[in-house]
Amino acid sequence: MSAKDSLAEIKEEWQTQLIDFVNTTEKLEEYINLTDEERSVLQANKTTWGTTPYFASLMDPDNPNCPIRKQVVPSRQEQENTYGMDNYLVWKENRDNDENRPDTIARQYKDRVAFTVTQNCGIYCRHCFRKELVVDGNLELDFNVEEGLYWISQHPEVRDVLITGGDPLLLPDEHIAYLIERLREMSHIEMIRFGSRVPIVLPQRITENLKKILGGYHNVPIWLNTQCNHPKELTHEVAWAVFELMSCGVNVGNQAVLLKGINDDVETFRELHQKLLKTRIRPYYVFYCEAAPGIDHFRTPVEKGAELIRDALRGHTTGLAQPMHVVATNIGKIPLMPDYYITEKDEKEYTLRNHKDEMTKIPNVPE
Ligand SMILES: *Cc1c(COP(=O)(O)O)cnc(C)c1O
Ligand code: SF4
Repeated sequence: MSAKDSLAEIKEEWQTQLIDFVNTTEKLEEYINLTDEERSVLQANKTTWGTTPYFASLMDPDNPNCPIRKQVVPSRQEQENTYGMDNYLVWKENRDNDENRPDTIARQYKDRVAFTVTQNCGIYCRHCFRKELVVDGNLELDFNVEEGLYWISQHPEVRDVLITGGDPLLLPDEHIAYLIERLREMSHIEMIRFGSRVPIVLPQRITENLKKILGGYHNVPIWLNTQCNHPKELTHEVAWAVFELMSCGVNVGNQAVLLKGINDDVETFRELHQKLLKTRIRPYYVFYCEAAPGIDHFRTPVEKGAELIRDALRGHTTGLAQPMHVVATNIGKIPLMPDYYITEKDEKEYTLRNHKDEMTKIPNVPE
């Protein structure tokens, strides 16, 4: 059997993957040898956790510091909170506002909105900044999709809709088709984006039928940003799913989260970005791990992302591999990039520094 045939078989499996979702201690033990610590946290467990059997199978059975395992298995540190902000999502998504928007619409910009259509995910990431909603479920929102679609139809200044969640690609095919169709009927919508970890945690979801729904030429294109945080997540199955998406006209980018102990060292950070390109995924953002409650243990100093781009990527490897490091705030995403380039400036010239600490000069041109 060729690799392609066996993948065609796997592709019929996505619903089974959800039915067999790994979210009990017993099921988890089929994949890893739990430490006493992990077991006691799971027994006291008050949080939603779990992932697909496919993603669970990537965990190292014996190493509790495995980068996949740390994203999947709850830790005691989640109960600690020194730096996280209370009511984080209300602040972050500007929910406390006068605009009277439906719960499904988060807005920080004039021309684009985030449209939350579900709170189910293919992995309940331990570092999720939407934890209050998606993982711990103590923020109650009303996912009335019709209301959201109506709001968008009444806002002609919105040209770009980012469909998010939870994970929108976990919705049934008909729902996805309906959302796309309704948005494409609105003459002011120029592009549709999906935010989805499905290509990484459930690549089997990219089926022939989903390709028909997302695919084909249309003047309102579909872009997809996934979230891959560690090179171990980039398997042959993922590469195939991404190829399938691209072959039907969907652009695939990555929005990684900078996670302490998972991807915050130079080697891993570089390998992640090189391997993304090898998998045909274009690095788009690296997010500073947000100030949501209970995720202090994943958070680095604010400068770390810029340092990693300086030391691991810029000049050191393919320019396409370089994402923008941003911190997402209530007033939008703010870039935090290295700033070593201009070392001096006078009336005559700029002195510029490269990644090897070499200097060069270019003329300073007046206005
Ligand atoms: C991230 C986000 C967007 C999209 O931002 P881009 O920088 O255009 O990718 C839009 N709206 C909200 C509320 C967001 O959080
Ligand atoms: S897939 Fe996204 S929304 Fe879902 S838990 Fe992970 S980070 Fe949060």
